[in-house]
Amino acid sequence: MSAQANENLPDTRGHFGPYGGRFVPETLMHPLQELEAEYFRAQHDPEFQRELSYYLKEFCGRPTPLYFAERLTRELGGAKIYLKREDLLHTGAHKINNCIGQVLIARRMSKTRVIAETGAGQHGVATATVAAMFGLKCVVYMGAVDCKRQELNVYRMKMLGAEVVPVHAGQKTLKEAVNEAMRDWVTNVRSTHYILGTVYGAHPYPVMVRNFQRVIGDEARAQILEKEQRLPDLLLACVGGGSNAMGLFHPFLDDTGVKMVGVEAGGLGIRPNQHAARFHGGSLGVLQGARSYILQDACGQIQSTHSVSAGLDYAAVGPEHAWLYDEKRVEYTYAKDDAALAAFMKLARLEGIIPALESAHAVAEVMKRAPKMPKDALIIVNLSGRGDKDVEQVADKVGLQMPK
Ligand SMILES: *Cc1c(COP(=O)(O)O)cnc(C)c1O
Repeated sequence: MSAQANENLPDTRGHFGPYGGRFVPETLMHPLQELEAEYFRAQHDPEFQRELSYYLKEFCGRPTPLYFAERLTRELGGAKIYLKREDLLHTGAHKINNCIGQVLIARRMSKTRVIAETGAGQHGVATATVAAMFGLKCVVYMGAVDCKRQELNVYRMKMLGAEVVPVHAGQKTLKEAVNEAMRDWVTNVRSTHYILGTVYGAHPYPVMVRNFQRVIGDEARAQILEKEQRLPDLLLACVGGGSNAMGLFHPFLDDTGVKMVGVEAGGLGIRPNQHAARFHGGSLGVLQGARSYILQDACGQIQSTHSVSAGLDYAAVGPEHAWLYDEKRVEYTYAKDDAALAAFMKLARLEGIIPALESAHAVAEVMKRAPKMPKDALIIVNLSGRGDKDVEQVADKVGLQMPK
């Protein structure tokens, strides 16, 4: 795969091979074209890049460390494991990288209001945060089930001055929240920018969000070269919509010696409605603006999904991942709920780091692979977020009791 090929994707209409595109109601075509034009102008504007770097450093806390997980490495007895510490960013996950970028675009477009969808609440919190910082009105749509399992994040958003709207339709999770956000955007498009939280949706969102997240991979590449004087053998990241994974993977796509594995949510196992592993049971379809791998039934109705982690619980996957899957450049596997929970506890006890349940899926995979690799092999695991939001749920699942 040549560098040329990567830089040419997506094409001018947002296609990654047969995936991506722009499948939206007519009323959204114009706003998407406006956003596309403004985004590409900004991308080539040194002043915008300077401003973006400033906030990433001074407000978000970049660069994040590439941390050698010494005890985990020793325990697993194989490859050397490095953790890319996105969990140390302001608001606790990689989401803020994208939110800072998009809020600066919204400002350039003179929007006074931002909206967002959220699953685990991390994207909602990051959006509410940048809205507060720039004095914009903010509304976040969140499935009613997710509001309940991520209560802490609902309070955080409210404290930051955002309005949180619980969505009671359908399965009451992320998909329904996205529908409501799109409905709001159609209605209020003059004043409002929709800060979409992952590498999904209609063009230009997948390419824009990927470019805002690729700072993860750019940093990791420079850091591993500095620490080890060579590129890693394996990159691991969890895949919800796919933004933290795309962010880590993208700068390495041309390095043929670097293997990449995306880890989806295997939930309770690969049976209909019990997981969110789109590459294990999904098929080609269109959902919420893009063509990709989608979990659907024989009639094209979207299947319900399940994962212990709200942030991976979505029926579709970013179109660039679908393309990389077909090209066999990235391998996609899954970790089940119980493996993610075990990995969550393992990382806490061995490394003193409580990961997000989403990130724990990637940790579960490193636990499988590292022991089978030689001691001089190098693995980078993207620790996409921290687990504060998950402690209550995990305590309940693993049976931790409050001291009496
Ligand atoms: C949202 C989230 C994810 C999943 O989203 P991607 O777009 O696939 O990165 C993963 N980890 C954390 C911590 C999250 O908050």
